[in-house]
Amino acid sequence: MYSHAELEAIESASKNKNLYGDLKGTTMYISCEPCMMCMGAILYEEFDKLVYAATLKDSNDNYCKEMITNIDELAKYSKSKIEIVKELHRDKAIEVLKNHKDKIKNRILITGAVSGADESSKEIYRKLNSIIGEYNSKNMQIEVYSPLDTMKFTGNDYERYERAMNILKDTSIVIAEMSNISTGQGMELQEAARLNIPILIIAKQQSKISGLVKSCKNVQDIIYYDKDIDSIKNEILDFMKDNYLLVHGSFGSSFSNWIPYLRREIESKGLVVYTPDFPTGVGFQNYENWSNLLKVYVEANTINENTIIFAHSIAPIFICKFLVENKIKVKRLVFVCGFNNYLGIDKDYDIVNESMYFDNLADIKNYCDDIVCFYTDNDPYVKYETEKEFATTITENQILISGGGHLNSESGYIEFPELLKYI
Ligand SMILES: [Zn+2]
Repeated sequence: MYSHAELEAIESASKNKNLYGDLKGTTMYISCEPCMMCMGAILYEEFDKLVYAATLKDSNDNYCKEMITNIDELAKYSKSKIEIVKELHRDKAIEVLKNHKDKIKNRILITGAVSGADESSKEIYRKLNSIIGEYNSKNMQIEVYSPLDTMKFTGNDYERYERAMNILKDTSIVIAEMSNISTGQGMELQEAARLNIPILIIAKQQSKISGLVKSCKNVQDIIYYDKDIDSIKNEILDFMKDNYLLVHGSFGSSFSNWIPYLRREIESKGLVVYTPDFPTGVGFQNYENWSNLLKVYVEANTINENTIIFAHSIAPIFICKFLVENKIKVKRLVFVCGFNNYLGIDKDYDIVNESMYFDNLADIKNYCDDIVCFYTDNDPYVKYETEKEFATTITENQILISGGGHLNSESGYIEFPELLKYI
């Protein structure tokens, strides 16, 4: 099932989800003209009135690609008459579309010793700039700051500090060259840690990296190089290609529970995140159908050793089975209320869940060495012992949230800050 905001609104407003025309007499207000799928749903539900702000073309021009459609033509097929109010506060809506795009953090900060930097360290920064330039050419709009820019800056210490903080605010990745340590670096790294920005440490072999830096949770990796920094070029590029996949549970969608929250948080760090909508409902949700969709991502090389997957409810076991069967390694798995071989939730859940179960669950450890499982002691759908057993089979890294229910919107989890630590 695809889901758009209009469909979500219809679903939550509709009293009887199986009857068309349930929302007769209602007006729908949308910030952007509906796509043909949503317009179809609006007509089926026999809304009296539709009010929209930006047009599909505005979205196309300012935000994301849309198929332009003629909703007046579509409205002619409707059983009942619908009044359409167009382009109300259109300018403001266009601003929202533009701002949303601008909000994505697009800076990469290279930090390293600045004062008294000799020619050889300048050469390192130049090479780093050009390595990142290769990444940049495929991912437009990225700005790179390095100590070479800092050296040119002629402010006093306070202005220097202020400048660094301003750069960090919109930074998605910090690459810290730590062969030579300077105080400025420490300040930048501390602030990066506070802002939860991923940090990659690189240093010449034999450099001493302090335990404090090593143990910082934002430090994602430390790569040592021998003389030439170009020798670790691919590792640096791989680090920057990290991506995220968020997978919803049975009868869920990419708009359900904490998935929109987590997506926003990841996007706000300028990172790439995918939130596919898997087929749901009896007759649609099964292992084969879900696999077919995920294979599209695998073919596009978006699920690989740089991928971090967050999955809820039935999705953890689906992901384990999929990765093991397809022999795909990933960087990290964060599972929320996962379970295996559990029937008895209710008839519909059992039908859609059954094909996801899988007996060689422990094998997932061969495909990922960083797995964390969240579960609770009062899940109304799945027994505590079942979730605990699932977690224990695959990892020692377990987090029990007491009283958290199924860690879904029903138990108040439309936000889930505990997950941010694993981005
Ligand atoms: Zn739509």
